[in-house]
Amino acid sequence: MAWRSSGASNRDLIENLWRNKLIQDMRVKEAFLKVDRAHYAPSSPYEDRPQPIGYSATISAPHMHASAVESLLPFLLPTVDDPDALPAAAPRGRRVLDIGSGSGYLTHVMAELAGPEGVVVGVEHIAALRDLGERNMSKSAEGREMLAEGRVRFRVGDGRKGWVEPDEQQQDDSAAAPTATTPGWDAIHVGASATELHPALLAQMRAPGRMFIPVDDDPDGYGQHVWCVDKDKEGEVTKTRLFGVKYVPLTDAPA
Ligand code: SAH
Repeated sequence: MAWRSSGASNRDLIENLWRNKLIQDMRVKEAFLKVDRAHYAPSSPYEDRPQPIGYSATISAPHMHASAVESLLPFLLPTVDDPDALPAAAPRGRRVLDIGSGSGYLTHVMAELAGPEGVVVGVEHIAALRDLGERNMSKSAEGREMLAEGRVRFRVGDGRKGWVEPDEQQQDDSAAAPTATTPGWDAIHVGASATELHPALLAQMRAPGRMFIPVDDDPDGYGQHVWCVDKDKEGEVTKTRLFGVKYVPLTDAPA
């Protein structure tokens, strides 16, 4: 699948992803068209393959970004399916967590979909990569506006613990389920492979909510698959294995 959708320009790349059915929803296509991948990938930005961004990290391939957004889409769009399912005092907009935000590219694309009421938080365990995401986003007027309005925030933390915004911290237990003051996440994207479905991530998912997470699930340690984890409005969790992938791992921050 890699390389197949490469193009000579951002539009070319997105049109090829569309033609190859990696992007299937017009709203997803429009969001990708709004974000120039050249602001995020240091070289050959319109090729359909991952690129190194420093610190052993990569910006994932465009077809992977496309499939992540297609999977999470119902939980990115600014429609709350069942407002009664949300904690009473929770804000109405979508809340999206991008763990291992790296280049910041996907963080930006997801913010386009979440719209003006949404909040997308990118979490990096390497401060320089947190800064990189923010710097890349500042290259466009739209990105600068999203940062200024707090619609996109880049934070430093261990993504395996999820993330609770400092002003939303009700207790020090990040593994606690969302409440009115710790509102949790409609959508969680994990951009590095996990050894397990970390309990804090499951706990911080809203009901309903969805997580896209690559997991090292091969018993011999040689394979990863993306899992789509759904929490329904009763809190019931369903896990679906989607396809084989090769992501860099979620690790401890380098010393
Ligand atoms: N979505 C990013 C992917 C970057 S690669 C993009 O397409 O640009 C994966 C990222 O996960 C790396 O930037 C790495 O620094 C980060 N990472 C690894 N372990 C982490 C952890 N425990 N917490 C937060 N980020 C982590």
